[in-house]
Amino acid sequence: EKTAVTLLGLGAMGAALARTWLAAGHPLTVWNRTPARAAVLAAEGAKVADSAAEAVAANTLVVVCLLDDASVDEALADADLTGRDLVNLTTGTPAQARARAEWAHGRGARYLDGGIMAVPPMVGVPEAGGYVFYSGSRQLFEQHRETLGAPLGTTYVGEDAGFAALHDVALLSAMYGMFAGAAHAFALIRKEDIDPTSFAPLLADWLVAMAPSAHQTAEQLRSGDYTRGVVSNLAMQVAGTPTFLATAEQQGVSHELLGPYFELMRRRLAEGGGEEDLTGVIDLLVR
Ligand code: NDP
Repeated sequence: EKTAVTLLGLGAMGAALARTWLAAGHPLTVWNRTPARAAVLAAEGAKVADSAAEAVAANTLVVVCLLDDASVDEALADADLTGRDLVNLTTGTPAQARARAEWAHGRGARYLDGGIMAVPPMVGVPEAGGYVFYSGSRQLFEQHRETLGAPLGTTYVGEDAGFAALHDVALLSAMYGMFAGAAHAFALIRKEDIDPTSFAPLLADWLVAMAPSAHQTAEQLRSGDYTRGVVSNLAMQVAGTPTFLATAEQQGVSHELLGPYFELMRRRLAEGGGEEDLTGVIDLLVR
């Protein structure tokens, strides 16, 4: 017998989750603020509740996937959460997740927060590699691991309810740094007779080749020795920055994305980090 699931929120992500639970044979009760979206799921086998409170009353496991933290407040205002296992997949900050955990505990529920590392087309497609960071009640996670694992992979990151959001935002922040670097690279070739579709595979392969540097950074942070295993030291890298800035200038490209990172590298060098890797920049960021 498959665990019955209540799902609040049938936006792009919620609807994808709903379909994989139905396909995996889980009885599913859904609610959505705009009823038309729930009606579509009813035709596919879901029970539709008239209110969020009614949906919450239907099953112990209650998954919420709404727009933001304020919509969770609004949707669950009149619901009785006593004895419920609340799993909140709505994107938010670590502080919002911790406050939501307290709020849920005060209403007699166990709480698990989730950060979704996938887009809707990856839901229910294990080969796509999408997963959800979970944090909060370990017992809730262990008990419902299989059900939660039907739509996407599961990665539990700790009892602190804020950790899922923190991991989610940390990975996405790194992604934006990568997007910024790629934007600068494309800008450099933009006005030349270079086919961007020939350039793209070179760029993508280079980013993949550089990605494992995260492991060395982590080892250096753990040991506190930022010179460990250094192949390109900070002094050499700072000496190279004028080449990057001059090339940008020659290509008519703004250095507003690259400049701030170079500035941090120069500050660390000035503090005496010349023999180190780039790891010391992290300490300049942490206030
Ligand atoms: P959508 O914009 O497609 O759907 C938003 C959902 O929230 C709808 O069900 C909407 O209801 C509901 N909603 C909005 N405001 C309220 C409110 N005040 N009260 C009740 N319900 C409300 O978003 P997604 O489904 O794409 O995203 C849902 C969550 O998943 C977000 O937190 C998002 O950050 C996260 N996520 C999404 C990803 C994606 O690629 N889509 C990737 C990773 C995470 P209604 O139909 O009535 O408007």
